Amino acid sequence: MRFETKAIHSGTDVANPNPDVVPPIHRSTVFEHSKEGHHEGDLNYTRVANPNRLRLEHLIADLEDGQSCAAFSSGVAAATAVFKTLRPGDHVLMPDDVYSGNGRLVNEVMIPWGLEFDFIPMADLDEVEQAIQENTKLIWIETPSNPLLNITDIKAVSDLAHEHGAITCVDNTWPSPVNQKPLNLNADLVLHSTTKYFGGHSDILGGAVVGPNSDESGLMEQVRNLQITMGAVPSPQDCWLVSRSTRTLPYRMRGHNENAGRLAEFFKDHPRIDQVFYPGLESHNGHEIAKKQMDGYGGMISFLIDGGRNEALNIVAGSQIISRATSLGGVESTWEHRRSSEGPDSTTPQNLIRISVGLEHPEDLLEDMERALN
Ligand SMILES: *Cc1c(COP(=O)(O)O)cnc(C)c1O
Repeated sequence: MRFETKAIHSGTDVANPNPDVVPPIHRSTVFEHSKEGHHEGDLNYTRVANPNRLRLEHLIADLEDGQSCAAFSSGVAAATAVFKTLRPGDHVLMPDDVYSGNGRLVNEVMIPWGLEFDFIPMADLDEVEQAIQENTKLIWIETPSNPLLNITDIKAVSDLAHEHGAITCVDNTWPSPVNQKPLNLNADLVLHSTTKYFGGHSDILGGAVVGPNSDESGLMEQVRNLQITMGAVPSPQDCWLVSRSTRTLPYRMRGHNENAGRLAEFFKDHPRIDQVFYPGLESHNGHEIAKKQMDGYGGMISFLIDGGRNEALNIVAGSQIISRATSLGGVESTWEHRRSSEGPDSTTPQNLIRISVGLEHPEDLLEDMERALN
């Protein structure tokens, strides 16, 4: 099956013995044992396995060209499980512009637990090579990154990691598997916040970890054990909703790509805007690598306005259609003065605005932008 067909059909027959075209929601937390007692692998208790979660996991794994997926109650819970496959004393390389919630998880939980970290400019291959140590076990990739949309060469970093006995985990939340499939670029794990494009409507929180076809290292088995043991699993209702939204993911993503491409061109030529960060623009410093490893450039754009904090806040306040909100991936466009939502430790420029381009008509978005910028 091709991607669009998989998005609609994959997983619907998993643990669904009934002829339902749309699988039901299984709220029961317990499942009856056979008369001979419980068999290993049978449904038993919902934290361990639930039909809605199994379907969602099958679906996400299939769309990432992977084999195995573990779904979580949030993206950060999924990241926690990845770090917990390591042991205190292990060393991890993180991008210095990693998603702020994952940075916080590292600083407040994983470092006190005993993991060692270095935060580096991950898009620079020489810096990555120099930072690898004997105990480096994991290299974390997020591309395009937040909020400057830096591009890391997934295959080059993964190959480098493997030469040194380490693995890579790619946070693929921004591009989604429609635009980028890290497992086909030699990455070992893929992470998602399904809160974003998979959910697509800003009304569900969720996460996922996906592994490749061969699990020789037992990595995904470990992630799955942690999923069950730490218990940060999504509810059957949320799994059902993410599965439902995923059916339109390829077409939504195409719309996000198209609208963002239009807006990036508009920003590029606007007199009030100094610089635009969008990997689809030829002027972007990661454009060549993005062209090689992405099928579309996504719905996220950042830009620097001619001015400072107050001017940026004024522009964001001046829109009528685009909501002032953080997060991303919804059908509605949102934008924000990124620095103020990242908090006091942020190093994001004061004149930076980040926009999640939604699926409204592009002319309406352009008119709204023009109004706000003036
Ligand atoms: C939102 C986000 C996360 C965290 O996901 P939650 O669902 O909010 O826990 C991780 N990585 C990226 C790139 C994100 O945008």
